[in-house]
Amino acid sequence: MAFELPPLPYAFNALEPHIDAQTMEIHHDRHHATYVNTVNGAIEKHPELDQKSIDELLGNLSSVPEDVRTVVRNHGGGHFNHSIFWTLMGPGGGGEPGGAVADAINQAFGDFATFKDTLSKAAIGQFGSGWGWAFLAGGKLQVKGFPNQDNPVMEGGVPILGVDVWEHAYYLKYQNKRPDYVAAWWNTVNWGAVEERFSKAG
Ligand code: MN
Repeated sequence: MAFELPPLPYAFNALEPHIDAQTMEIHHDRHHATYVNTVNGAIEKHPELDQKSIDELLGNLSSVPEDVRTVVRNHGGGHFNHSIFWTLMGPGGGGEPGGAVADAINQAFGDFATFKDTLSKAAIGQFGSGWGWAFLAGGKLQVKGFPNQDNPVMEGGVPILGVDVWEHAYYLKYQNKRPDYVAAWWNTVNWGAVEERFSKAG
C-alpha cells in the first residue's frame, strides 16, 4: 500500500493569525505531498517494504535496503513528522494541557513554563532545518532538537509534541524570526490531541 497524503484536518486559514493560510497550503499540499510521493517511489523498488507501516520503517532503518535508506529516512521521516504535526495544531488552540500530560510535564520539567521554554529553545536552537520534539523514551518525557526529518521514533521513542522549524514552515510570515514563529506556534497547539497521543503512548 502506497502512503497517502492525509487531508489537513482544518482549513488552511484556521491557524491565522499565528500561521498564515498560504504557508499552510504550500506546506501541506506541496511539501508534505512531495515527501509522500518520493518515499512511495523508493518503496516501489522494494515490494517487501510495501506491507510495513511508516513507524516500522523508520524504527528499523538499518533493515531498509541501503539504496533507498536515505530516501526513506528523509522523505518517509517527512511524511511521518507532518502527519503528526497537522493533528497537533488546530483553531482555538494554545493554553496549557491538563490530565496525564500535565502530570508528566510537571514530573519531568517541574512546571509547564519550564517545559515550554525547554521545547522552544530546542526548536529555536536547532541549526538549519529540523524539529523540536517532546517525546516519551524509557517511560520519561524528554525534549530534543532533531535535524532534517529525523524524529524520536528513529531512536525508539514515541513523539508527543513537535514543532517544525524548517524555513518553509514560517518564512513567508516570519522571515528570519524563528523565535517569533515558535512563540506564535504555541497558540495553535491542540492539547486535546496531545493528550490523546500521550495516553496511547503510555
Ligand atoms: Mn515541514
